[in-house]
Amino acid sequence: MKRPPKVAVIGGGIAGLAAAMRLRDRAPSGTTVTVYEQSGAVGGKLRTGAVAGSAVELGAEAFLVRDPEGGDSAAVALARRVGLSDALVHPATGQAALALHGTLAPMPGGTLLGVPADLEKVAAVARPAAERDHDGGRPLLGPEEDIAVGALVRRRLGDEVVDRLVDPLLGGVYAGRADRLSLAATMPGLARAARVEHTLSGAVRSALAAAPRPPGLPVFATVTGGVSRLVAAVAEASGAEIRLGAPVRELVRVPGGWQVGPDTVDAVVLALPARPAARLLGVEPLLDYASVALVTLALPAPRLPELSGFLVPAGEGTLVKAATFFSTKWAHMRRDDGVALVRASVGRYGEEHLLHTGDPELVRTVHTELSTLVGIPLPEPVDARVQRWGGALPQYPVGHVARVAALRATLPPTVALAGAGYDGVGIPICVRSGETAADDVLKGLS
Ligand SMILES: Cc1cc2nc3c(=O)[nH]c(=O)nc-3n(C[C@H](O)[C@H](O)[C@H](O)COP(=O)(O)OP(=O)(O)OC[C@H]3O[C@@H](n4cnc5c(N)ncnc54)[C@H](O)[C@@H]3O)c2cc1C
Repeated sequence: MKRPPKVAVIGGGIAGLAAAMRLRDRAPSGTTVTVYEQSGAVGGKLRTGAVAGSAVELGAEAFLVRDPEGGDSAAVALARRVGLSDALVHPATGQAALALHGTLAPMPGGTLLGVPADLEKVAAVARPAAERDHDGGRPLLGPEEDIAVGALVRRRLGDEVVDRLVDPLLGGVYAGRADRLSLAATMPGLARAARVEHTLSGAVRSALAAAPRPPGLPVFATVTGGVSRLVAAVAEASGAEIRLGAPVRELVRVPGGWQVGPDTVDAVVLALPARPAARLLGVEPLLDYASVALVTLALPAPRLPELSGFLVPAGEGTLVKAATFFSTKWAHMRRDDGVALVRASVGRYGEEHLLHTGDPELVRTVHTELSTLVGIPLPEPVDARVQRWGGALPQYPVGHVARVAALRATLPPTVALAGAGYDGVGIPICVRSGETAADDVLKGLS
């Protein structure tokens, strides 16, 4: 009789853990799953810590509630699967702002990462060059074409929409620049629509209509007590053996399978950032990463605007590129003593040298800049924490999606790639990516 398979999941971020969970749910009974994680903890970019005694996210903070295809996002489904339905909470306010020349202007609604469907709606923060977005008698993009987000939006709507809206919004997610990031990788729905529609506003309308949100449904959710609870619950429920401090440096084909560290396994899910995954596969890495630092301040009774936070366009010249008012945004993070938790995100791709400064100096700079951006002097923090993420966010170049498909086509059926280095940034995307990789190796084994 055939023995039950052994599967290695390399990388214990949320993509790897979701793969392990899917293997638990769908692999033949008796399948052994081992997660190899190089660091001392699972979770990768998901990490909850403490500031002034409150649980605070030191990495990813929240996830989309809805899947673009409809229904729960993969992150919400996973949280429910591991018994955390009751721990899911939604922001008390979703209203964010843009810091523009000394004021905090409300972020316009009805855009796709800042690309407007209705040009009137963004007029208060950026004047679109409406005359450029004319119908040229053919789709904006060819059937397989990709383009930098900035190039497309500058061409169709002018520089202000990119510099004041799209670039800060993309910067908030990717710490990168619209002029370099691939449309197909960062906004797949818009890329699909742009292969059919003749105007950019038409393409945005069509992309928004393809993924309608039921009225009243919140956009984001998080887990009370922190996203590390989700990590721990998935690790536990997966039943996988979790090996910490276990970097995998080589993946060798051996008779009957793959050699992973001291083990021989039948199949492998590589849920690693692009560079270590490329090293194991003996290929060139597909992309580069931006490094960022998150600086969380605990401020005694500050007078903060009623906003979830704000984004700062690169042209404003601050180190701070985004701020989140945790205690305003999340009811569960409000404290009886009035101390408010505010997190600033610092660092854009290509500006890593600006992060080469000590923690106390970074805290001072962030505190000073936040006071200026908010428009009132903020009280001195009673606690502060700097979390640096080297190699944090993938910078998807134009053509990334096609290169990933080509790389996957070269892999043996018992090896699959998962995670943000390939399929996109964000907890739901990485969960889905891990689950798909698990399904793929199960197919390869059958
Ligand atoms: C600062 C920040 C804030 C974010 N905020 C949000 C947010 O609010 N909402 C959202 O949806 N997304 C957010 N994201 C994005 C999201 O967190 C990531 O896209 C996602 O967590 C990536 O998961 P992953 O499993 O692909 O990779 P990772 O989390 O990078 O996990 C990869 C794991 O592989 C391990 N590893 C590396 N090399 C080896 C090796 N050789 N052997 C074994 N293990 C190895 C690493 O230690 C790591 O644990 C944020 C990201 C960052 C950096």
